Amino acid sequence: MRKIPIKEGMGTLQRIEKLELTTNFPIGPVNSYVVFGEKLTLIDAGLKNKQGWADLNHGLHRIGIELTDLEQIVLTHHHNDHTGLVDWILEKNPGIKIFAHKDTEMMLKDESYLEWSSEFFYNLFMESGLTKDMAIQSAFRKGHRDYFQIATVDKVLKEGETVPGLPSFQVIETLGHSQDHISFYCTVEQQFICGDHIIKGVHGGMFLDAPKPGSERAKPLLQYLSNLEKCRKLPANYTFSGHGPIISNLNEAIDGHISNIEKRVSRVINTLKKVNGAATGFEIIQDMYRGRYEKAVITFLFEIISVLDLLEERNIIITEKQNGVFKYRLVNN
Ligand SMILES: [Zn+2]
Repeated sequence: MRKIPIKEGMGTLQRIEKLELTTNFPIGPVNSYVVFGEKLTLIDAGLKNKQGWADLNHGLHRIGIELTDLEQIVLTHHHNDHTGLVDWILEKNPGIKIFAHKDTEMMLKDESYLEWSSEFFYNLFMESGLTKDMAIQSAFRKGHRDYFQIATVDKVLKEGETVPGLPSFQVIETLGHSQDHISFYCTVEQQFICGDHIIKGVHGGMFLDAPKPGSERAKPLLQYLSNLEKCRKLPANYTFSGHGPIISNLNEAIDGHISNIEKRVSRVINTLKKVNGAATGFEIIQDMYRGRYEKAVITFLFEIISVLDLLEERNIIITEKQNGVFKYRLVNN
């Protein structure tokens, strides 16, 4: 393990360097990390765009390495702001190995899964009360397909396993933000690399993924809450997120996320009180995000469906299907 001094007289720490790569997303730049382990490792690989590519190359240069020095890429999840540059890196460095969750490759490039996924979302959007035009337009996008053309995953990473080339890092499954999200905890140095699971002061979002054909969809917010609790137990001194600053107080960040979720839960309950009866998912977002929902209907819908899952689990709402559309109503209304 290559080490760097923390401060004079305070011992050493495994070297992890943060690189900020440009995106055109509202959340701002995405972070990649270079871990100087047994193998020189890149954690996550930005969004595919020219500025992000330049940022990656300059960032590596600044810390004294070249693209071709990297030996492996470890991915936290399949979202295109974390996997976008993998193909371009492979073109320059064809020998580099790629490690990810067992479902990441399927979500990025398995044609039959992606086709099924479009069907799944079309049905979900219709059941949520979207118009047929909106459902078709949103469900049959090409999605992430442009972002992982030549790459394949060389080895899948499972809960509790050690990351190859980073023997002090353990894989921790952190589903919720996506259905292939994993994080990495260094038991020796108490460093935690957590992707978009925990971001300081910012809600990373609940994104629904299609399940495998024949399976039920996951309830991401329930998973997310239980995985926040799982991470609370980690004695992490430094938490390296997919966006934003390095976190020094992990539990404070976790508490912040939980309190934001509870605020969103209250807002959905208040909206259901206001409609005084049953409402569809789409009607709820139209009311909650009046004047701005049009710009990001699907993002809002995923958030609200996740909250509705939680309200159902807590026995606060009842769900009924009428003419193919789900309607939600408060139990005491
Ligand atoms: Zn993400």
